[in-house]
Formats: sequence, structure tokens, C-alpha cells
Amino acid sequence: MLDLKQNVQYVKGIGPKRVKVLNSIGIYTLYDLLTYFPRDYEDRTKTKKIIDLVNGEEAVIEATAMSNITVAVVRKNMSILKLTVGDETGVATITWFNQLYLKGAFKIGEKYKFYGKVSNAFGKIDISNPVFDRVGEKKNTGKIVPIYPLTYNLSEYTIRQAIENALNMVNHKLEETLPSYIINDYKLDGINNAMQQIHFPTDFTACNRARNRLVFEELLTMQLALMQLKNQTIGENGICYSKDVKMSDVINELPFKLTKAQLKVLEEIDNDMESTKPMSRLLQGDVGSGKTIVSIIAAYKAAKCGYQSAIMAPTAILASQHIEEFKKVLEPYGIKCELLLGGTRKKLREEILQKLKNGEIDVLVGTHSLLVEDVEFKNLGFVVTDEQHRFGVRQRENIIAKGKNPDVLVMTATPIPRTLALILYGDLDISIIDELPPNRKKIETYAVTYRLEDRVNNFIRKNLAEGRQAYVVCPLVEENEELNMKSVTKICEKYKNEIFKDYRVELLHGKMKQKEKDEIMQEFKDGKINILVSTTVIEVGVNVPNANIMVVENSEHFGLAQLHQLRGRVGRGEYQSYCILKYKGSSPVAKERMKIMQDTNNGFIIAEKDLELRGTGEFFGTRQHGLPEFKIANLFKDIEMLKLVQSVAIKIESEDPKLELDKNKERSEERFIRNAETDIVCR
Ligand code: ADP
Ligand code: MG
Repeated sequence: MLDLKQNVQYVKGIGPKRVKVLNSIGIYTLYDLLTYFPRDYEDRTKTKKIIDLVNGEEAVIEATAMSNITVAVVRKNMSILKLTVGDETGVATITWFNQLYLKGAFKIGEKYKFYGKVSNAFGKIDISNPVFDRVGEKKNTGKIVPIYPLTYNLSEYTIRQAIENALNMVNHKLEETLPSYIINDYKLDGINNAMQQIHFPTDFTACNRARNRLVFEELLTMQLALMQLKNQTIGENGICYSKDVKMSDVINELPFKLTKAQLKVLEEIDNDMESTKPMSRLLQGDVGSGKTIVSIIAAYKAAKCGYQSAIMAPTAILASQHIEEFKKVLEPYGIKCELLLGGTRKKLREEILQKLKNGEIDVLVGTHSLLVEDVEFKNLGFVVTDEQHRFGVRQRENIIAKGKNPDVLVMTATPIPRTLALILYGDLDISIIDELPPNRKKIETYAVTYRLEDRVNNFIRKNLAEGRQAYVVCPLVEENEELNMKSVTKICEKYKNEIFKDYRVELLHGKMKQKEKDEIMQEFKDGKINILVSTTVIEVGVNVPNANIMVVENSEHFGLAQLHQLRGRVGRGEYQSYCILKYKGSSPVAKERMKIMQDTNNGFIIAEKDLELRGTGEFFGTRQHGLPEFKIANLFKDIEMLKLVQSVAIKIESEDPKLELDKNKERSEERFIRNAETDIVCR
């Protein structure tokens, strides 16, 4: 039987040296090699006449050697080999660098095929560093050739050869991994054909069919795995909160009326809390939609039922903001709330930890500081993590482990289209607050080109004069962190020393120590700083109601979803707020993007549009976003396929939640494209 897990060293042509290189790019087994899919293809099937060659293209010519190779040694370690070739339409010079072994490879009067990059300067045609075949040979030309990603010091030819040998070893004997009814219903390629064609396609139609099949399988496997994960009842042994403790007791005493969306979400949470199954719920809602109060009310229920809550925020400022709100709402009910930060003084810290252990504290708010080992709860029953994307799932699990199957609520302000949410948070139930509290002033958004800079500055000045504050956010545009810092610093200097000399302007960036950041943020909150220039570090939910202007520099560098997040930093107080998007570029897409930002304040609509216009690759900006990595699927290209697959997965799941029907049983021990479940869990 074919063992896909066998060491790649058993593939013909792979000696110890190559094994090492392959290992370095993550290829250890036959399976790894077979699923090292091409990143692109070159069509070398068609030959061109020399006269038709176009500057800059890559092409195949069939031509006769007209000279011997000449070698010019330019300097040490640098030699140039030249060969003159011709067909009936013209003559071309072939150039190689440092490939002395080619010296005797060509015979005058014989025909060869060359494939390489053409340069055509004033009719003088040159092809540099081409690969070639003798006539009749099909090593490098005459076919569609796969191009593999990152091969380090393996040549494309070597890796191709290795994969060809691997496929020969497999010899069309892979076991089918998709159920046959699925293959029939969706007219997919069989695994063997797909595997052959994805590497060495006979034509591009076949290649696309192969890719479709493999992408389908990869996405389906992942989607089913996520669904399984979600259905994995961690037993029915969660906490069963009492029906006698009514959330409405707090809700009715609030100084404002909750929105319909908040009430609906609270009902979902209440049901989870009262059921025996531990809650595992994602709460999505735009900035300012009132997620915090939802978590406060849930913590009320937990406390009144005798359980402790842990609230984990991504930064100290946010945690401090939260504790104020928790205290305001909960302390009148005799519920004790405390704040624990990394910087909490030792004596106070010890006191808090002691009380926590004794159960004298009901709600503990903090940051990563809550994850530390000596933070012990008496009976942790409810966990909230705010702004999910800043915490890994691991961390979520660490805090959960401090209780016994506590209910978990994950809150995020990133509006994620449903299609993607199913991937990112497939293991969670999803609740959405899709409505802002009433009487919020709409943030007025203006997209402006840099021509209007002076007017923008005057506008800011006018608001500062009235006592307001402003944010200026700069994108990360350089590959290199240092350069980024330089560019932000430069912009800040301009505001500080030229435009707003008479105001206090300060800089906040990711490279600063957390403590410095917190200090600057606090001063801004206290109104001591008028303009805060920063990178996107301020993106997370800081609340400075007096700041009413958000200026985004070079906003064309941001995803719409991210711009929307940034915009949510203002409009938190009683003042009319403004978002000014400075942008460069006049492409229709750039304009369309700016128009969307001006026209809508709905995060979900913006997220969908962003996905449409930019694709998932950039959807979350440059930040690492926790989407699983795929071997072949590309969420940007394959969003339609993803939708199809999700509908298939839902159908399968509703028919056969445990995947135990004969027709769904996996044919082979493993799905061919494994999307390791652990991968999904750990992200
Ligand atoms: P989020 O965390 O979703 O960004 P917050 O919970 O910080 O939003 O809410 C923003 C502000 O709106 C807070 O001051 C909160 O007290 C207030 N708020 C929440 N819900 C309502 C409501 N239904 N009506 C009026 N104000 C509300
Ligand atoms: Mg919040």
C-alpha cells in the first residue's frame, strides 16, 4: 500500500542534501511533496518567431545555433556567455551569466528551443538566462510548466523533477478522499487526476478543474472541522445559572434604554447562561454599539448567582475604562469589582489576589495580567475577552482554565462578513449588535485630496480653539519598521513645529513601551494633549469623548474596515464629530472606496464592500488576522467557492452532524488536503 507519510528521501532523485533543503521548506514526507502546489504556471507550449518577440515578454523560440559560445570574463566571479541563434525571421543573441558549464552544449547548425525573458532594444533581440531543450526534448519547453514557491537553492527544475518522480511513485493510486456523491453532484475531478493536472497540466482548462477540486476539498475539510469543533459538546457540564436572577432587574434601572439589538443579544446570552452547555459566543458590534453594557449585565447575572467574572481587555487604558463602567452599574447592587493590571502595586495586588481567592471580589477586570498563574478565582463562572483579535485562542483558553467550564463571551468591534466569520470564529456561536443607540450624531466623513490640506488644517484649528481634540493617524507604508517610524515621526514634527506650534502635539507609535503609550494616552484623555499623532495603535476602543476630529493620512493605504474602526474613535461625546480621510490617487477604485466611507456608517456594509474591492488578503489591513493558512485555497480568489462549500458543509452537517453516514465516511484514513484541526484551534 502506498504510504504517504514515508520520508521524502525515498522519492527517486532525492539524496540527503536535497532532503535537507526540502525539510527547510517544510517538506518531510511524500505527502508534503505532493501537496507542494505550484504558485503559478508558464505556458511554454507555443513557439514564437524571432521577429514577433516583444520587449519584456517571456517566450519560447525555436532557433539554430549560428556561432560557438563566446565567453567574456568581466571580473572575478563574473563571466558572460553569448550565443548567436537564428530562425527564418531573424537573429537573436542569447546571454547567460556565470554558466560556464554550457560552453560546449551547442553545436553550430543544430536546432534548439529556448525559453526566457526577451529584451528588444532598437530591434536588437536578446534573451537572457534562458532554459533550453534540444529538438525532440521536452524538459523545459513544449508544455505548461509549474512554478513553485520558495525553493531556495533548489532549482525550479529540480523541484519539478522531484514532484514528477513522486507522482510516478504514486502512479494514480491515491485513494479517493471526497465522497463519491459529492464528486458527482458538484462535477469535481477525482483525486488522482487532480493531483496530476495541478502539477503538470495538459492545458489550462484541466488545470483549473484540478485546482477547483482541490480548493473545494480544502475548504470543505476546514469548514467541517470547524463545525465539529463547535458541536463538540464539552459535555453538558457547564454552569446552569438560575432563572430566578433576572437581567431585567438591572436593565430597567439603567439611565438609558437598551436598543432592540442589545436586548436580543442579552436574551441569547441569558439562554446560554441558563443552559447546561457552556456558552461560547462571539459578540460582534460596531464601535459604540454598546457591547460593554451587555457584558456588564451578564456579569450581574453571574455575580447574583454566586459566580465570579473575569473581564480581559487588550490594553491597560481599556481595562481602566471598563472598570469605571462596571463599578458604576454594578456596585449599587453590592457587586464588588476590582481592577488588576501588570502595573498594580505589589501590596494592593496581593490584597486583590487574596480577596479573589476568598470570593470577596465578584468581577475582576484586567489585561493579560489576569493570565498569570497566581491569579486564582474562587469560582470563576463567566469570562469576557474584549477585542478578540488581540488575544490568541490560547490565551482565551488559559483564562477559561481558571474556572470550571465557565461561560465565555468574546467581543469584537471588527465587522466581519458572515462568510469569513464562519472561518475565523467557526467554533463560536455568533451574536450581532447591528444598531447604534439612538440620538448618536452621525460622524461626518470627508474624503479630501492633499490639495485641500490647508483648509483641513484650518478646520482642525477652529475645533481646537473651541476646546476639542484631534487624532491624526498615519498608515504603515514601509516594509521596514524603522522607516515607518521615521515617516510617522516626520508627519508629527510637521504638525508640531509648523502647523500647530501653539498647541501640544504628541506622538504615539507601536514601538514605544507600553508604559509610555499608556501615559501619553492618559494625558490625551485628560485633555492635556491637543493633537495625538499615531500609527494604528489607537485603533482599539479608547474613549475620549472630547476628541471630535479624526484625520487619516494617506487613507488609501487602509482597508475600509480599518478606516471604519478608526472613525469609531470619535463621535463618543456630545460634540458633532468629523472624520477626514486624506488620500492620494485618482483611480476609480480609490474614489469608490472613499465614497463608501462618506456614504455609510454601517460597519457590516463597509466590511462586505471592502471584501469586494480588496479581497480578503488585505481585508484586515496588514495586521496578522488569524485566518487559517491554506495549501491551495486563496480566500481572495476563492470567495465564491467558499460560499458554495459553506452551503455544502451546512447541508452535510444538518443531515449527518457526526459524519457517520456511510456516504460521508471518509474513504481513506485521512482527507487528502489536511487542514490540521490543531491549526484552527491554536490560532
Ligand atoms: P462598544 O464597546 O460597543 O464600542 P460601549 O459599550 O463602549 O460600546 O458603548 C459606548 C457608550 O454608549 C457608552 O458610554 C455606553 O454607556 C453607551 N450606551 C450603551 N448602550 C446604550 C444605549 N442603549 N443607549 C444609550 N447609550 C448607550
Ligand atoms: Mg468596547
